[in-house]
Amino acid sequence: MRPSFPARAAAVRAVAPRAVRIALATVAAAFCATALPSALGAQGSPIPLTDPAVQRAMAAMQAQQAWTLEQQISICEVPAPPFAEERRAAEFHRRLKSFGYADAWIDSIGNVIARIGRGDGPVVMIAGHLDTVFPEETDVRTTRTGNRVAGPGIGDDCRGLAVVLTLAKVLKEAKLEPRGTVYLVGNVGEEGPGNLRGVRYLMNTKFPRKIDYFISVDGAGGGNITSRAVGSHRYTISFEGPGGHSYGAFGMANPMHAMGRAIAKIAELQVPTNPKTTFNVGIVRGGTSVNTITPLAQMDVDMRSESAASLKEIDRMIRAAVDAGVAEEKARWPNSRAGITVKYDTIGIRPTGGQADDAPIVQTAMAAVRAIGWTPSTGASSTDANLPISMGIPAITINGGGRGGGAHGTEEYYEETPDAYKGPQLALLIVAALAGVVR
Ligand SMILES: [Zn+2]
Repeated sequence: MRPSFPARAAAVRAVAPRAVRIALATVAAAFCATALPSALGAQGSPIPLTDPAVQRAMAAMQAQQAWTLEQQISICEVPAPPFAEERRAAEFHRRLKSFGYADAWIDSIGNVIARIGRGDGPVVMIAGHLDTVFPEETDVRTTRTGNRVAGPGIGDDCRGLAVVLTLAKVLKEAKLEPRGTVYLVGNVGEEGPGNLRGVRYLMNTKFPRKIDYFISVDGAGGGNITSRAVGSHRYTISFEGPGGHSYGAFGMANPMHAMGRAIAKIAELQVPTNPKTTFNVGIVRGGTSVNTITPLAQMDVDMRSESAASLKEIDRMIRAAVDAGVAEEKARWPNSRAGITVKYDTIGIRPTGGQADDAPIVQTAMAAVRAIGWTPSTGASSTDANLPISMGIPAITINGGGRGGGAHGTEEYYEETPDAYKGPQLALLIVAALAGVVR
């Protein structure tokens, strides 16, 4: 999932470490704005464009553009509902094996991992996510009309999976041996309730402090690089009381009414536009019958921000709105002895964080974007990269080429553009730059 929005200079400054901000101010005083990146000494890894193996791999990716799209379509027709990605994982694993990855495996929570490289340099992980937002009963067949393919998950993230598969196949075919170690991954649990459990396991348990760079390929699109993580807090908030007959027990504080009061207050909350901060009551449920004062009303609430401080603040405001809603409902019925209790169950917590545009991984990715003839930009989103970013591991999310829309809906589509092969090429150049190439 990655509804992203473009970078603004102020937002970059907001997430830049204090030292960088001071450096920016000092340097800005001495140089003109265009001199900033080099003046800061920010250098990414060089893009090995002249390496013969890289050139062979680039050419193979262009020649196999149609093959990449076939991979995307066929893997997408294997269902992968939240917490039930096994079938798609097995198929992804089978394909990696067929490319010659003898040591490809599925880990204990369902991530598929293949390894390549001499092991004499940086460790780079590149991943697409296996899971979708769609429940088991969803029809996952795709329909193709010309260059347009429609189907649930076709862009998010079957495009990313196809890019990782293409990279895996072409590295072997072109005999491109990374100098360091490259892990090619299809991971579970990126979407909503999955709460990044796949990447969380990889970073915390499977490879603790062993990954130098993490790249997520998520969805279709061009040169936008997600370098900052939009954090989120998501809760199910329950309002509970004794409940009773709507006529016989009338005059009792009503959990449903308390929740309604709370929602009305939440709807009026004021939040900053920069850093972008949002809130949403997405689902409400509860009730027994039309003539029952319900004992239970629940709402699922989502709040997000690019800034950890703003996220903390909107969390506090929502809790205050809930408390005020309950207090008002109790005050409305002063003679009622019925209490209303509130309970918070966490659906997901995604950490906020960011890297300045002059961070080496961002510089490397931007140089790779330029090398394939696209225009780089940076932005913030909520993706698998959130987790490593929050741990201080350099991480970005890139697009897979082509064009897409309608993510998370059954009308989702992907359009193959003439230069869609540049998606896999971008992944290749970034990986080759960061891990190095054996000459
Ligand atoms: Zn996604």
